[in-house]
Amino acid sequence: MEHYDLIVIGSGPAGRRAAIQAAKFGRNVLVVERGRRVGGVSVHTGTIPSKTLRETVLNLTGWRERGFYGRSYRVKDDLTAADLMARLHITLDHEVEVLEHQFARNKVDTIRGEARFADTHTIEVEGEAGETHRFKADKFVITVGTKPFRPDYVPFDGEYVLDSDEILELTEIPRSVAVIGAGVIGVEYASIFSALDVHVTLVEPRDTMLDFLDKELVADFTHQLRDRGIALRFGAKVQKIEKLGPADCEITLEGGRCVRSNVILFAAGRMGATPSLNLQNCGLGVDHRGRLKVDPMTFQTEVPHIFAAGDVIGFPSLASTSMEQGRIAACQALGEKAYDPPEYFPYGIYAVPEISTVGMTEEEIKERGIPYECGVARFRETSRGHIMGLDTGMLKMIFSLKTRRLLGCHIVGEGATELVHIGQAVLNLKGTLEYFVENTFNYPTLAEAYKIAALDAWNRMPPLSE
Ligand SMILES: Cc1cc2nc3c(=O)[nH]c(=O)nc-3n(C[C@H](O)[C@H](O)[C@H](O)COP(=O)(O)OP(=O)(O)OC[C@H]3O[C@@H](n4cnc5c(N)ncnc54)[C@H](O)[C@@H]3O)c2cc1C
Repeated sequence: MEHYDLIVIGSGPAGRRAAIQAAKFGRNVLVVERGRRVGGVSVHTGTIPSKTLRETVLNLTGWRERGFYGRSYRVKDDLTAADLMARLHITLDHEVEVLEHQFARNKVDTIRGEARFADTHTIEVEGEAGETHRFKADKFVITVGTKPFRPDYVPFDGEYVLDSDEILELTEIPRSVAVIGAGVIGVEYASIFSALDVHVTLVEPRDTMLDFLDKELVADFTHQLRDRGIALRFGAKVQKIEKLGPADCEITLEGGRCVRSNVILFAAGRMGATPSLNLQNCGLGVDHRGRLKVDPMTFQTEVPHIFAAGDVIGFPSLASTSMEQGRIAACQALGEKAYDPPEYFPYGIYAVPEISTVGMTEEEIKERGIPYECGVARFRETSRGHIMGLDTGMLKMIFSLKTRRLLGCHIVGEGATELVHIGQAVLNLKGTLEYFVENTFNYPTLAEAYKIAALDAWNRMPPLSE
């Protein structure tokens, strides 16, 4: 039986980073992947496909130019699902190629098949034809990710009632979509469909959405969604979902209100992909959503030689954070030095418009009793915004009154997910308001919004004490 220093189960962002990090330490590593190709949810059904779809939609609809040419402006009339998919396949092939090359270059062994624990140090890998192989390892990193949550009351049919993996297989662009679940995935797809001029209803049992974001940002975003005609049905639980006929679905909400649409996207949560791992054979258990518990600094599970990283350990469930967790988990598993994760990491929500944020929200700052001041800039105040025809977009920064340090940076609008990294650097380097006031920014850029927001806060801040 082959023996490895480290076996990584799953080849998504967490697994890929864990394996490559281990290989760079000169250890022999095996990655087991049950999917047809390496890359995980991130490459095949999650991050990259949804972001490619978003980019294609924005390009082919001419969305970014509508500020100048009006809401009816189109780059391509009669857009089809095939137009949207063409770019998707090219991007995915490229991503897989890069990843396979990375594994080969770093001498990471890979095997295709489903892994399950036979005992604490042995896994069995079952290939597509049912053949099994056994491997032993000193250490394991479990990075099996998640699968869409599919409750029994939802009549999934792979055609009109879909989960977030299946939505990428639509063969026609529907006239109307109802999205259940206003989490990150639901909000992203709802706003992408709306940019395609599909009528969208967003259904959410809670009264609010994206609660981890600064409320002022969510209010601005919500206003933009409503302004575009997205119907928000918040604060009512789904009572029944029915398929009345082809492309004719109905959601009945508590209180009796109904939502009719061609297609339903059910995007209310994901489950850890742990059931097939036979975790009882290695002494591990999972929570009600199939997730593993780990030490948040080392990513070690309750079984000392088994580590876990990525979506299978829960929040924040982002490709960006999963990669770092995977790398740290491999360092910890192999007894190598690992940096602590930085205090603040950014969130990117690739809705239309984008949202990105780093640091504390105004609500958190208030809760902690820190005296603060905010500065806000609208993208339309920047010359770049004028050139781009932007009439929406805002950047908000929050500073400590006492130390003048940046505490939080929150952006909604074009380029938010790139722009946020300026705020992230200043925040993690413990920079102050003065950084933005005293430094020159390229002109004309959207990044100028940082200076405008800083000056806005500066106007209300007490003077710098000597
Ligand atoms: C629609 C959508 C959009 C998203 N957008 C973003 C975004 O914009 N930015 C961002 O940062 N994040 C985004 N995410 C989240 C991101 O995709 C995940 O955080 C990331 O993929 C998690 O990585 P992972 O390595 O933990 O697991 P995954 O990427 O889920 O990979 C796990 C792998 O393990 C394999 N596996 C499972 N069980 C076994 C087994 N028993 N044996 C062998 N292999 C197994 C699976 O086949 C899979 O390939 C998005 C997710 C979705 C669904």
